[in-house]
Amino acid sequence: MEAKYLEDWLRDAHAMEKQAEEMLKAQAKRIEHYPTLRARIDQHLHETEHQAEKLERLMNELGIDTSAVKDMGGKLTAFGQSLGGMMAGDEVVKGGIASYAFECFEIANYKALIAAAEQANQPEVVRVCREILQEEQAMADWLDQHLDDTTRTFLARADDNDVQAKK
Ligand code: MG
Ligand code: FE
Repeated sequence: MEAKYLEDWLRDAHAMEKQAEEMLKAQAKRIEHYPTLRARIDQHLHETEHQAEKLERLMNELGIDTSAVKDMGGKLTAFGQSLGGMMAGDEVVKGGIASYAFECFEIANYKALIAAAEQANQPEVVRVCREILQEEQAMADWLDQHLDDTTRTFLARADDNDVQAKK
């Protein structure tokens, strides 16, 4: 029984990482005036691409069909909208909030996945998911620690220049 959920949840995690890739790419493209934030997003984009590859390898080893990756689109619509629709001037702040929420979502998913993999006696899945979980936790912590600073910088820039400086 547990193995069935484990398979589903690995597919879900893979779909989650593919969505994360798209969101991080879109966000990185728009950030111009926040080099530290930009660098951290680029770093996590690389990590995210590797996470998706690691999950594909796990699924292949378990004989799970990766061509029919379960669609998580419905569950992620709110996140997708908040990141995808960042056309307003305050997108760097809204993006920081949405990114932090998304990392917490990933953390919760991997915690459940690790528990399921332990239950199903899949130590390699446990090991890889713990590795990924650490990267998600590090990114969530970083965003948590920098959101107030990003907001202050944004507000200072908004004061200085109402027109072009809000990215
Ligand atoms: Mg991830
Ligand atoms: Fe992440």
